[in-house]
Amino acid sequence: MKIKTLIFSGLSCIVTTGYAQQKEYPKPEPMRPGMTEFWLPQPRIVTPAEEDVLVAPPSDAVVLFDGRDLSAWQHDDGSAPRWTVADGCFTVKPGTGQISTKQNFTDFQLHIEWREPEDIAGESQGRGNSGVFLQGKYEVQILDSYGNETYANGQAGSVYKQTPPLVNAMRPPGKWNVYDIIYTAPRFKADGSLQSNGFVTLLHNGVLVQNHTLIQGTTEYIGLPRIQAHGAGPLVLQDHGNPVSFRNVWIREL
Ligand code: MG
Repeated sequence: MKIKTLIFSGLSCIVTTGYAQQKEYPKPEPMRPGMTEFWLPQPRIVTPAEEDVLVAPPSDAVVLFDGRDLSAWQHDDGSAPRWTVADGCFTVKPGTGQISTKQNFTDFQLHIEWREPEDIAGESQGRGNSGVFLQGKYEVQILDSYGNETYANGQAGSVYKQTPPLVNAMRPPGKWNVYDIIYTAPRFKADGSLQSNGFVTLLHNGVLVQNHTLIQGTTEYIGLPRIQAHGAGPLVLQDHGNPVSFRNVWIREL
């Protein structure tokens, strides 16, 4: 009888403890922006050629900006872009919101030139921030990363908050930078699960900074990338409150 009681109380102790542990299992801490930022190592600096010759679009390219107007673009509500067009380029007008191409794309080769203001203002992510969102979901970061330290996976040429650039090939403020982006879109099954991954290759001023890099999922400022089924999508240029300029934008569907 004594033994039985001992076994019983022992068992109930285990059961109770197990139950209590299950009940008290801690909830994960809510994610903060800093949790997906890493600062070291900083990509080493490579000095690109001083400035590129303007690469005119090839015959099969869809020209998204030829120096004249933003007729290929729109704000989220469908209105005409209120960004400034002048001197053969267009510039973010802070506060007006992002712009998207009217046309949707899947796999493509994109050429886009961008320039940071010569008058430096702000620091880290607040200095010359914009971005190219591939299919409206995956940001290739645009930032004034010339002598401007920030987290490595948030500097110019990064797949934002995912993969830092292999090197920092930034030109100084006031000079034109060039991105040549080769993008393979992810594919999804009918049930919304991932069928095949997306990849991005990026040349920054002719220097390879992303080499067939896996797209881990959506760009998130807070939290981890998410797998989210989608079809063809637009290119989106970010209004992050800084007057970044663009010119010579063209795309080739693959
Ligand atoms: Mg950005």
